[in-house]
Amino acid sequence: MNHFEEFGIKKELIKAITELGFEKLTPIQKQSISVLKEGRQNFIGMAQTGTGKTAAFGLPLISLVDTDSRTIQGLILAPTRELCVQIAKDLENYCKYLNEVKIVAVYGGVSIRDQISSIKKGAHIVVATPGRLTDLIRRKKINISTIKYAVLDEADEMLNMGFQEDLDAILGLTPADKHTWLFAATMPEGIRAITSRYLSDPFEVTIGIKNSAAENSSHIYYVVHERDRYKALKRIVDANPNIFAIVFCRTRAETQKISEKLIKDGYNADSLHGDLSQTLRDKVMKHYRDRSL
Ligand code: AMP
Repeated sequence: MNHFEEFGIKKELIKAITELGFEKLTPIQKQSISVLKEGRQNFIGMAQTGTGKTAAFGLPLISLVDTDSRTIQGLILAPTRELCVQIAKDLENYCKYLNEVKIVAVYGGVSIRDQISSIKKGAHIVVATPGRLTDLIRRKKINISTIKYAVLDEADEMLNMGFQEDLDAILGLTPADKHTWLFAATMPEGIRAITSRYLSDPFEVTIGIKNSAAENSSHIYYVVHERDRYKALKRIVDANPNIFAIVFCRTRAETQKISEKLIKDGYNADSLHGDLSQTLRDKVMKHYRDRSL
């Protein structure tokens, strides 16, 4: 028996994830899959991105779907369009040999019509950003009153991005007897409030130390004057010729400015922020994934 079989994961899923290179469960998967696959409890997982949490909730969620029914049973909410697309892609990859499970991603910046038609064709699991989902609900194009499982991924980020009201409205339209699985890297007050409102008696799992970064990352910081910041950034890049990196900025304008400077200075860079069209955002993400940036 390999590790996945011991955890009661369906053989079609095991076949797909084995092909994806998963050999054994990550710590969060070990702690969550056995609880979540029963589908009987609310759940809080404190874990960073990169710990394997998509599979931690994705594999049990897929296993719980009743494909004889055409209703939406699982709803996954994520803060950004990119994460939404990534989760849906991951779930589709896990379902390579279970293609009767229908997964639909809904997020802003692209045609809502195509998403409406995908929902109409039948979706078992919907992966959504709160904004676009609220829009679809307002247009009466989606029925979430049938869901059995709501997953709030990066719940802390959703609050940071101001989605509290949307989340309240969305969750208010879901059945009271559904189960909610919440994942967050940090546990600010707002999350505590959500968990006490929506997650009665949750099973709680913490991977690593609360509010800390992943163990496989080390952190270095430099204190520089504002006027030297760009020069310092360039020096770091120059010292690491094969750098494959993301520079996080506070504002959209700053993101644009720094990438423009880098490009002008001959670096292979681009920017990603909310003022770009979704087509451009997808293009930048694709180039980044291909490592051509
Ligand atoms: P996540 O935290 O869900 O973003 O996952 C981080 C990365 O780890 C993704 O590229 C996954 O495909 C990969 N991953 C997740 N679970 C496993 C596993 N059990 N074995 C190997 N890789 C995994």
